[in-house]
Amino acid sequence: MRLDVPAELEAFRKQVRAFVDEHAPGPKTRAGVRAPEPELLPAIRTWTAALYEAGFLGIDWPAEHGGRPDAHPLEPFIVVEEITRARTWLPIGAATLAAAAVIEFGTDEQRARFLPRIRAGEHIWCQLFSEPGAGSDLAALSTRARRDGDDWIVDGQKVWTTNGQHADMGYLLARTDPAASRHRGITAFAVPMDTPGITVRPLREITGTTDFNEVFLDGVRIPAANVLGGVDDGWRVGMSSLGHERSGVAARGVELAAVLTDLVELARGRTVGGRPALSDSATRQAIGALAARVQVNTAIVTMAKSRMAAGTDQPSDALLGKIFFSEVNHDLAHYGMTLQGVDGILTEADPHVPAGGWWQDAHLYSRAYTIAGGANEVLRNQVAERGLGLPREPR
Ligand SMILES: Cc1cc2nc3c(=O)[nH]c(=O)nc-3n(C[C@H](O)[C@H](O)[C@H](O)COP(=O)(O)OP(=O)(O)OC[C@H]3O[C@@H](n4cnc5c(N)ncnc54)[C@H](O)[C@@H]3O)c2cc1C
Repeated sequence: MRLDVPAELEAFRKQVRAFVDEHAPGPKTRAGVRAPEPELLPAIRTWTAALYEAGFLGIDWPAEHGGRPDAHPLEPFIVVEEITRARTWLPIGAATLAAAAVIEFGTDEQRARFLPRIRAGEHIWCQLFSEPGAGSDLAALSTRARRDGDDWIVDGQKVWTTNGQHADMGYLLARTDPAASRHRGITAFAVPMDTPGITVRPLREITGTTDFNEVFLDGVRIPAANVLGGVDDGWRVGMSSLGHERSGVAARGVELAAVLTDLVELARGRTVGGRPALSDSATRQAIGALAARVQVNTAIVTMAKSRMAAGTDQPSDALLGKIFFSEVNHDLAHYGMTLQGVDGILTEADPHVPAGGWWQDAHLYSRAYTIAGGANEVLRNQVAERGLGLPREPR
């Protein structure tokens, strides 16, 4: 493991920081992986294109599609850290995931069709994997695709589709051979979201925002040329692309450190029992305990980055990191509410709500991180089985 940062990477970081300061589409006002208001979309597309054009995204893509194979393996992490540090938007949607599938499993024609449009910010993608009956147990998915001449016809329902309301393309998993065993007989598709038969229904969440959607597929025709990888081989395509996106880990360290700073700032303006909150020993201890966990989170991220960059990461690194991050994030947001006392019941719309209601939103959103990307309970099982080699959960 390497904790020191080579000098050339510090220069790279400065370059990225200056670029972000100059080109980013303004502050992101809510915590988490969120869907922007529609009026922000043009700016986010332009920003995405600028990041690719500058060589800050798609670093690990093939050189003929703009990748930089000679780049330092930590560069993608630095880019994500700097965007997160500036509290602005990372490119939205699942384009990185889809690109990984297209690069590894797609045809030359598909690479030429899809990758430049991702680079240009023209195609926002969404991930059409989860269904009402298939989340943790994704192999239970029942959305069905039947071959009809040169097309496939798809019927079924997806849910939790983040940014589905803004997406131009969907990265879809559907069952093509119901007779095959669960993990076989699934195929991956690229589907334009304006294809007749697709209905995107935004879900209003406890935060009051609509960050994800239900997606209904009713007789949707997808050309056979849009199959990603082999027919009935979609499980391998989906799992491989999920394992490919790693730089997002870097956001977790920066994100929690920033929330901790804000928590101290919030405490500075509050009183407990008529005295400044920061003079209250229980408050100080609570913040100190959270600060220690934020440090541990940073150490976990640093270890994961170092191992990923060296190609020596363990199966449980990413899983443990996600579990730990999401739980500390929840507890920070929860303490932000505790510090507000009765003001914690104020909504974002109330002119007296502390910090413009940021903590209220962050607290309500914080459960999402414990579910998205795999529910923590399920990830704990995976750590036990894959990381520690414990007996498999009875199924
Ligand atoms: C904010 C957010 C964004 C998302 N975005 C997308 C997206 O864009 N595209 C997409 O395809 N999906 C997306 N998801 C879906 C996500 O992958 C699933 O929510 C997740 O895998 C859990 O599946 P589920 O919701 O069906 O819950 P379930 O699998 O039904 O789980 C329900 C509960 O049971 C527990 N549980 C289940 N199985 C076990 C077990 N074996 N042992 C112990 N406990 C168990 C879980 O931990 C959980 O508490 C998103 C989810 C969230 C929260």
